[in-house]
Amino acid sequence: MAKLELGTLGEFGLIEALRRRARRAGGPWVEGIGDDAAVLRPRPGHEIALTSDALIEDVHFRWATTDARSLGAKTLAVSLSDLGAMGARPLGCLLSLGLPADATGERIDGFLRGLLGTARAARCPLVGGDTVRARAWMLSLTAVGELPRGQALWRRGARPGDRILVTGALGGAALGLALLERGEGGAPSAGPFVRRQLRPAPPWQAGERLRRSGLATAAIDLSDGLVQDLGHVLRASRVGADLELERLPLPRGMGAACQRAGLDPERLALAGGEDYELLFCVRPRAPAAQLFSRRLRCPVSEIGRIRRGRGLALFRAGTRVLAPTRGFEHFKSL
Ligand code: ADP
Ligand code: MG
Repeated sequence: MAKLELGTLGEFGLIEALRRRARRAGGPWVEGIGDDAAVLRPRPGHEIALTSDALIEDVHFRWATTDARSLGAKTLAVSLSDLGAMGARPLGCLLSLGLPADATGERIDGFLRGLLGTARAARCPLVGGDTVRARAWMLSLTAVGELPRGQALWRRGARPGDRILVTGALGGAALGLALLERGEGGAPSAGPFVRRQLRPAPPWQAGERLRRSGLATAAIDLSDGLVQDLGHVLRASRVGADLELERLPLPRGMGAACQRAGLDPERLALAGGEDYELLFCVRPRAPAAQLFSRRLRCPVSEIGRIRRGRGLALFRAGTRVLAPTRGFEHFKSL
């Protein structure tokens, strides 16, 4: 593997290295990296979904707590999660890469390995982007997906009476981040949570399977915390919801790990971000969570119900309790 020393390669040398590593896109791509723009030939009867996410050094990640390979994988994973939440299948991605002059070849190499490894696994080739000098690492990834015409899963479709379901488990990534920030990420018991934070593995394929089932009335991926993201569904759908706290799916070992760390697992599950699980709503008579679990090929739990009105109400053992803070939001002072 050629060394990726910025000073020697320069912008165009790096782009050439990128092009070689990304390989030919193929499939629906007429052209990938190499010309002024990538060219996609959409399949008839399909729509194109586009999503973009930025990761900035010291805003979204710190080199003290992440490794380059994980960062590369996560840069794409968060966009796969967005595509999945629309019910789309990934087709390809574009990467804008802002690098400080002192970015080491080792880091760039690790980052690309993580990103391109995830791209291959998801069949979502890197087809273009931009490479610029920046003050700090700045990554912006745009992912392109497709879905049959008229079948996108929107945030706005939830109706009173719908049941609320969620894939996987909640709060683990936030616990991982808390442990990393405290310098306790190296403990063996921290491993699963740290991995969830650094290497999220969103069940993006579940989104496409859900779309095919035709059973979802609304969907969103959980990037900013359950309360925040379910709030988006409620506002878009002009409805309210009741959640049952004892139904929140927590990762294995979360209770014990939180106790040791003096953290509240429920709060992390509600307001901690970056779980990248899929939340969706279904009509009252849709199949049980267990059946969805089989169909989507991942764990699914039912956590509450949509109702008339506005806002989110939380219940523990049938009694209403107050919501914790809402979740993550840029620019907002706490
Ligand atoms: P332009 O001057 O038109 O912006 P560039 O020289 O920046 O062209 O890019 C040349 C080709 O390399 C284009 O196809 C572009 O999409 C691709 N490219 C540049 N940077 C990246 C990157 N970070 N990741 C993937 N492709 C890239
Ligand atoms: Mg350019």
